[in-house]
Parts: sequence; structure tokens; C-alpha cells
Amino acid sequence: MKNQKRIAVVGAGLGGLSAAGFLQRAGFDVTVYEQAPSFSRIGAGIILSANVMKALRRLGAEGALVEAGIKPHSYISRAWDSGEKMYEIIFDAASEERFGGPYLNIHRGDLHAVLEHVVTPGTIIFNSRLIDLKETSHSVRLVFDNGVETEADIVIGADGIRSRVREFLLGNEAPRFVGSVAHRAIFATESLRGFEIPDCTKWWGRDRHILPYFMTSRRDEIYAIGVVPQATWDSDAASLPSSRDEFLAAFDGFHDDLRRVLEAAEDVSVWPIYDRERNDRWSGGRIVLLGDACHPMRPYMAAGGAMAVEDGAILSRCLATFDEPAEAFRCYEATRIPRVADVQRISIENSWMRGPTDTDWFYCYDPCTAPLTPPS
Ligand SMILES: Cc1cc2nc3c(=O)[nH]c(=O)nc-3n(C[C@H](O)[C@H](O)[C@H](O)COP(=O)(O)OP(=O)(O)OC[C@H]3O[C@@H](n4cnc5c(N)ncnc54)[C@H](O)[C@@H]3O)c2cc1C
Repeated sequence: MKNQKRIAVVGAGLGGLSAAGFLQRAGFDVTVYEQAPSFSRIGAGIILSANVMKALRRLGAEGALVEAGIKPHSYISRAWDSGEKMYEIIFDAASEERFGGPYLNIHRGDLHAVLEHVVTPGTIIFNSRLIDLKETSHSVRLVFDNGVETEADIVIGADGIRSRVREFLLGNEAPRFVGSVAHRAIFATESLRGFEIPDCTKWWGRDRHILPYFMTSRRDEIYAIGVVPQATWDSDAASLPSSRDEFLAAFDGFHDDLRRVLEAAEDVSVWPIYDRERNDRWSGGRIVLLGDACHPMRPYMAAGGAMAVEDGAILSRCLATFDEPAEAFRCYEATRIPRVADVQRISIENSWMRGPTDTDWFYCYDPCTAPLTPPS
């Protein structure tokens, strides 16, 4: 793409920052607009699988991420009551060779601290909440709540599940509460008082599951996320405070190895889980969506962030390949939608790595080299 050089990315989340990093390396003039005044250290962990790590390697971030996070020895699935091991995938030199990259667990704050540096200094403009878009034949005008207006040749909506850019493209439709909430806690390993746990274990109950894992290679901090059914969520808040007792009650009857972890939990909060139905329109005119803005999914496969990063890598390649935005966007949609749809389906089923699983199609994928599907 030779003429449309100015790209505005709305949202400095995982997807927006990665996309901006790829686009800058492809020679585009990129600015990222973020509504928050600065990055805050969100109290949660995140899993970055090999497909994401390969992409982030191209942005020069792999070393710092490995330094900040932990390459777990393995991921284990266990039955909630008997503790029976249902599946284990070992992450070692052989798996890294096979997948082309490591599997990493990390604190989200540490991830963001690294991602800030994948774009050139001055790329991110904070305190800029997009409120409107005005499209003309040759550009798009962005209007922010601080009174600033600016113009870009292409706008990328990377503004998350309640995307304003999506609303502009597809109309206003609230995300869907899926009937489950997630209890989350981060706490120091020393609260376990010597009780040893594996690096990453998912405990599978009949209608609920829980995943405690370490977030640093020092194994000094544990993140636990436990998902339980709940009929409604009546609050406007993104999360509400919970407690260790509520967390324990939600996993009553679970194996002692798990309950001993929950007995050490501190700073527990509870979060509603939302997604949206699959939607195959990700673009219009000079505007395109990525990540949670177009395909928010239930977090049961731990892959929403991975999909956002892959989107950014593929979108950047499509924009570098085709002069016309419409053609680039058709290629992007044709390449991304089938893979994302599979991940959305598996996330709804909550079946990923419950038992023996073919993981190659997911982990071996490299969005920086995977074939692009030509626009139809
Ligand atoms: C409980 C839970 C656990 C998860 N665990 C994992 C995991 O282990 N691995 C994984 O890969 N994924 C995981 N995910 C999914 C992952 O967090 C999301 O898919 C990912 O954060 C999406 O990235 P994004 O950049 O599209 O959106 P976001 O991360 O939501 O970023 C959007 C950004 O846009 C900004 N913004 C919003 N509106 C505006 C506006 N109008 N103007 C300007 N800026 C705006 C926001 O402030 C934010 O910075 C999990 C999700 C949940 C809920």
C-alpha cells in the first residue's frame, strides 16, 4: 500500500499495540489512541501460547517476556474430585522446537510493560477516548472526548469488547453475558506455607473449572481463575470484590490439592464473562476491526489475546500487500475468520486440552508466515 500511509489504531491493548508494532515495521505511519490516562497494572495473569510468542518475537519482545514470565514445565488437566490426571502436555526444548516458540504464563502488567516498547516512542496518545468517526471518500476523521479531532487514511478498531469503532460499523449491540463469572485472585506463593503445586493445572468440574498457575519463573506469585455458573450479572461494574470464603464455597467438594491453594487466596474479585455471537463482517470502507472488538470469546481456551495478536500480524501483511484498503480487508477477513471461528467454537465448548488434544494446528501456526487467503 503506497498511498494510504496514516493509520490510526484505536485502543492500546494487546491487539492494538501488536498491530501498531507490525505496521510500523512494514513502513506505515501509525498512531495509537488510548482512552486510559496511562497503563495500569491489571491484577491478572495471561497465557501466551507458542503461536503468539512467535509473532511477538518479530517485534523484539520475546526475550523480555521470557524474563518477566514463566515457561511452565507443563500444563495438566485434572478431575475435580479424584484428582485423576486427564491430560498433560510437557513444554520443553522438544516442544519449543516443534511449535517454533515457548508457552509462557505472565502477569498482564508485565506483558503490557514490554508491549509498550514494541512501538516507537510517542506512538501512543493517552487520554483519547474515541467518540465518533466521520468517513469521507479519501479519509476518516476521528473525534475524541478531549475535543481533539484528527484524520487518518485507515482506522483500526482495537478497542475491545465494547468497541466504539465496532458500533460505528455494525450498530450498537451490547455484548452477551454468558451466564458465568470468573473469580480471580493473585497471591504470594509463600502463603501456601511450603505446599508445592505444579506450574499450571486446570481442574475440571461438571459445570465449573479453575486454573491456578505461576506467573514468574521465581514461582513467587500465583494467579487463580475459577469460572462458575451465575444466572445474571446486574452490576455495571467490570468486577466486584469477592472473598476467599466465596471462592472456596464456589469450589466446594473439589480435591484437597486445589482447596489448599484457594485457602491461601487473597484479593479475590469476581468478573462477569461476556462474548458475542460470531460475526463475519470485520470491516467497511476504510475501517477495520481486530481482537475483542470483532470476536470477543469466552476465556476457556486462553486464546482471545492470542487471536488479537495474530489479527494484527495478518492485517499488517494484508495492508502491505494490497494498495486498496477494501482488498486488504477482504484478504484479512478471508485469512482470519475460519481460524478464529474454530477458536470461538472450542472456547464455547470448553474442551481445549481437557483430554488428549491435537494442539499442532493451534501452536505451530505462525501468523507472520502463514499463507494469506486471496481476497475473493
Ligand atoms: C478472565 C479472562 C482471562 C483471559 N485469559 C486469557 C489468556 O490466558 N490468554 C489469552 O490469549 N487471552 C485471554 N483472555 C482474552 C484476552 O484478555 C482478550 O482477548 C484480549 O485482551 C483482547 O485484546 P484487545 O487488544 O482486542 O482488547 P483489550 O485488551 O480489551 O484492549 C482494548 C483497549 O482499547 C481501549 N479502548 C476502549 N474503548 C476505547 C475508545 N473508545 N477510545 C480509545 N481507547 C479505547 C481500552 O482502554 C483498552 O486499552 C482472557 C479474557 C478474560 C476475560
